[in-house]
Amino acid sequence: MTDRQYPIPSDFASVSNLKPSDYRTLYERSVTDREGFFRDQGARVHWMTAPSHVGDWSFESPVKIEWYKDGVLNVTESCLDRHLETRGDKVAILFEGDEPGNSRKLTYRELHGEVCRFANVLKARGATKGDRITLYMPMIPEAAVAMLACARIGAVHSVVFGGFSPEALAGRIVDCDSHILITADEGVRGGRTVPLKVNADAACQIAAKAGVSVDTQLVVRRTGGDVSWDADRDVWLHEAVASVSGDCSPEPMSAEDPLFILYTSGSTGQPKGVLHTCGGYLVWAAMTHDYVFDLKEDDVYWCSADVGWVTGHTYIVYGPLANGATTVMFEGIPTYPDASRFWQVCDDHQVTLFYTAPTAIRALMREGDGPVQKTSRSSLRLLGTVGEPINPEAWEWYFHTVGEGRCPIIDTWWQTETGGAMIVPLPGTTPMKPGAGTFPMFGVEPALVDADGNTLSGATEGNLILKTSWPGQMRTVYGDHERFEQTYFSTYPGSYFTGDGARRDEDGMYWITGRVDDVINVSGHRMGTAEVESALGSHPSVAESAVVGYPHNIKGQGIYAYVTTTAGTEETDALKAELVKHVRTEIGPIASPDLIQFSSGLPKTRSGKIMRRILRKIAANDYGNLGDTSTLADPSVVDALIDGRMSG
Ligand code: ATP
Ligand code: MG
Repeated sequence: MTDRQYPIPSDFASVSNLKPSDYRTLYERSVTDREGFFRDQGARVHWMTAPSHVGDWSFESPVKIEWYKDGVLNVTESCLDRHLETRGDKVAILFEGDEPGNSRKLTYRELHGEVCRFANVLKARGATKGDRITLYMPMIPEAAVAMLACARIGAVHSVVFGGFSPEALAGRIVDCDSHILITADEGVRGGRTVPLKVNADAACQIAAKAGVSVDTQLVVRRTGGDVSWDADRDVWLHEAVASVSGDCSPEPMSAEDPLFILYTSGSTGQPKGVLHTCGGYLVWAAMTHDYVFDLKEDDVYWCSADVGWVTGHTYIVYGPLANGATTVMFEGIPTYPDASRFWQVCDDHQVTLFYTAPTAIRALMREGDGPVQKTSRSSLRLLGTVGEPINPEAWEWYFHTVGEGRCPIIDTWWQTETGGAMIVPLPGTTPMKPGAGTFPMFGVEPALVDADGNTLSGATEGNLILKTSWPGQMRTVYGDHERFEQTYFSTYPGSYFTGDGARRDEDGMYWITGRVDDVINVSGHRMGTAEVESALGSHPSVAESAVVGYPHNIKGQGIYAYVTTTAGTEETDALKAELVKHVRTEIGPIASPDLIQFSSGLPKTRSGKIMRRILRKIAANDYGNLGDTSTLADPSVVDALIDGRMSG
């Protein structure tokens, strides 16, 4: 494959905060004088007591990670109180409801007041520092308010995506032994209501059977729909806030006290309760949000993720608010009422910085250019992406059709575990290659290793590890430090193993090739699934594809491709043959798919990621134990795929 390269768009380059030479200077310092660099970065947050320590950590067993450990802070002071004087009337949260025209603005002053009242409600229900509080919320400002209210009193929030089932919610309540649940009567997405309270009630019952009783359910009224009520347990938020004060002093927290638990999306197995702490996480959130988005005071910043994912935590709530930015919260979906919605919202609110996921970009790309071209998008100056490798085809569409070549595409590689962006083409500093994550964030020291842990140099491909700690690193798996060590530090002792594979090109740029579990080994040649999928995706008849390995008599592993075609395509054997030929020309004969299955849908997690472990089982004709499928967005897809496999 040829790697196309685009220069920094010139209008952007002339006003960017960072210039190409800044990257080298800052990166150099961040790795040669880590103490000094991160001591300075620590000043991005407000400390009650400034830390004298910076990083204290070891990746050798027993793994210990601490940053700014003797510092004392409350993250809400950085996100709210300190802005009151200069930004009190600035919009903090700009809410865009599911239904167009339903929007609402909360200034920093208003947000501060709401957080304090909410915090006092939690206190009145007995919540104290260290308690775990579960949130199961729609994308409404109250979700952010609830998170901050927990932080205000030192409670640890665990946000569970509002699309999860009662079983999945209960599992997470039980795992972190949480006795307060914050939810809403109903959510609204894409014109349909989501029965949050009904699910939450069911989850409480399931949790009770597992020995964890939720004694307070705090309910936000979103739709006013009918809900059943348990007077001992359930409390309406709007009633409870009426009787509490608007003052709530922030709980002093040690930098290493927990801030939140967040369960990973479960693409590879049982979700893990990732634990982040107050000090280092907030420094990392603020620092990366500033650098990654070239933040300026008058930006209107929109991250379309859900607060149920780490992207929502770091880049809707904590990063933007710590930086005093205006952050858009969107309740709806990209295709409601039609496929123009994202761009319409950008026009309506004059959004300047927009951040979304490849899955959304591909879904909108399927609908053609028309819905985009109906809108102006003239306010946009930067476009970001996160969650999966972005195939060059989708990248090009995002760059040319959505951004009209004016906006850099900032492809951010990171994980729930990393707290914030780790490999990213920092705006203004580097030319871009469609699909390349490019260069490490300041302080991040990636390396590529082979299966035996030997470090590979130069242009090469291997397993991606991180050699040193950074402030936003997760500290443990909640309640299971052994699993933490086992999962991340046992494969390559002394390093953090990301679980992802990557390629480094001649320019030193990193390309994430997908999860290492997903690497296919064909006759001894290792291939990333992302590469084959990108090749398939560049064929005009392919809307989306997922590639896995399956047992093959001769080659060891064969390549199995699930292909979703573009609307109106005839799914013939001739097309299959053409696709095989296409991949041969794009990558080489070694990458030719051995089997192609047309499938109208792919199994995705609720955050939109393809669950290749299920596809691997189906390709291998192994339908017995598909593993944990509770995080699937649409489980029925699996049956359709099995039918297709058996008849194929
Ligand atoms: P689990 O760990 O439970 O399997 P998950 O890995 O999907 O779930 P997340 O932490 O949400 O949970 O996702 C991080 C992963 O997403 C990364 O390890 C990587 O595989 C993928 N990813 C995220 N952003 C990018 C990106 N910009 N380019 C390539 N891959 C990405
Ligand atoms: Mg992961």
